[in-house]
Amino acid sequence: MTQLTGRVLNAQSTGWDEARVGFAEWAPYNQNEPQVIVFCQDTQDVVNAINWARENKVPLRARSGRHNYEAYSSLNKGGIIIDVSEIDFIRAEQGGTTATVGAGLDMVTLVEGLNDVGVSFPTATGASVGLAGLTLGGGFGMTTRLWGMTCDSLAGVEIVTADGKVLNCSREQNADLFWACQGGGGGNFGIVTSFTFNTHPVGNVAIFSITWPWAGFEAVVDAWQKWAPNTDRRISCALMLLSTGQIKLYGQFTADDKDLPLIQQLLEPMLGSFPPIVVSISAVPFVVGARTFLRVDPLNPQWFVHAHDDEQIFKSTSAYVFEPLCANGIGTLKKYLENLPKLSCPPSQPSMVQLLGAGGAVRDIAIDATAVYAREADFIIQYDAYWTAPEDGKPTLDWVEQFRNEMTQWTKGAYVNYVDQRIPQYLQEYYGPNLPRLVEIKAKYDPQNLFSFPQGIPTSLP
Ligand SMILES: Cc1cc2nc3c(=O)[nH]c(=O)nc-3n(C[C@H](O)[C@H](O)[C@H](O)COP(=O)(O)OP(=O)(O)OC[C@H]3O[C@@H](n4cnc5c(N)ncnc54)[C@H](O)[C@@H]3O)c2cc1C
Repeated sequence: MTQLTGRVLNAQSTGWDEARVGFAEWAPYNQNEPQVIVFCQDTQDVVNAINWARENKVPLRARSGRHNYEAYSSLNKGGIIIDVSEIDFIRAEQGGTTATVGAGLDMVTLVEGLNDVGVSFPTATGASVGLAGLTLGGGFGMTTRLWGMTCDSLAGVEIVTADGKVLNCSREQNADLFWACQGGGGGNFGIVTSFTFNTHPVGNVAIFSITWPWAGFEAVVDAWQKWAPNTDRRISCALMLLSTGQIKLYGQFTADDKDLPLIQQLLEPMLGSFPPIVVSISAVPFVVGARTFLRVDPLNPQWFVHAHDDEQIFKSTSAYVFEPLCANGIGTLKKYLENLPKLSCPPSQPSMVQLLGAGGAVRDIAIDATAVYAREADFIIQYDAYWTAPEDGKPTLDWVEQFRNEMTQWTKGAYVNYVDQRIPQYLQEYYGPNLPRLVEIKAKYDPQNLFSFPQGIPTSLP
């Protein structure tokens, strides 16, 4: 019988509560009490944990940064969580073109470590988001339109499969599994221990933030949706529509020093769309831009744009938009943001919608070249709803569900990294035309469905 190795914790261990909660204490994770959690230190610990779970018929979940919106990286009594967050090495050389990194890195450690050798690849804007979940589901951030999604920079993956085998995957080796790891979603095919990424040298960037009053809603949204997916691909950005009545554009221009001044001109269509209240544009080193969007630069609090602090309860969901919204679609966004449910207790953050610009390098890749199918989308709508008092949960969840549903006349699909248990046809929405191939690969590498969880990929088509 296989023995568990690594840092093995159970309910009697010191640190059990911290080990089992999610990134936010309120998340459904803290209702979950697995039998054991293994913090793997290396690939062999992962092999042992998978073999142990299989031999003992114990359900398992893979875990990295614990940011899954529906806590699918956790599970209830009797199961084992196989956590890779302590596999967090970075192997990269100054001026090199690839980096091999542990699957458990968080964004801050990753960005800083890569910066030490003057490189980067597409990362997220959530500081404690785990690299494994991010990459396996796609990955959007402030370099997406220039370098593609996180999964697009992958050159190799080391993964432990259901039979306890360690497989190296790339375009040449186990190519089908490699393809599935590029957007097929975390937790489905095995447990990834490390990734090899193609990297890009970094220098300076321009970061920008523009705020408009609510009166500019229609003009700004319309200008943004035509500009953001089609402008110079060195610009990646998001438009926040806050229910408190503000509109904020934030983003990054990743260009050579000589081109950085072009940013003023490139932003003209947005600056001219409606008179802004505040405009900030700064040239900073790449790592300072990254820290800013990760909200870890104390010198620049005015840039702290990313939502979801660890105390605030939220529900997020998503949909892709493939053509500019008509006036009615823009009006529907405004209608819902102006008609929030009446809450007994105000949350610390306002509910909002964020529009995440796509196009550029995302669109260069064919729909079937990776598991990410929504290559032609112009942008993602990210719906973010917040509440505090337990009794405010249901009305807020119903509001965001109704909002998303009404918008589906202009949207298609959903981003698998924003899992939402209220999406009925979730497999179709997350994977579109790539679903049959993902199911085939699942059946080949995990025929017993050892890696199963709600909304997981099944071994046969439903
Ligand atoms: C505050 C916040 C900010 C975010 N910001 C961004 C952003 O800027 N861009 C973006 O694209 N997304 C963002 N997301 C969404 C994020 O990409 C997903 O939630 C992602 O799945 C989180 O991965 P994780 O490793 O942190 O989570 P986990 O909960 O640990 O894992 C997520 C999924 O992957 C599986 N998994 C974990 N580790 C492994 C492994 N080693 N091998 C195989 N499967 C594994 C889990 O079982 C689970 O199904 C954000 C989410 C939050 C909560």
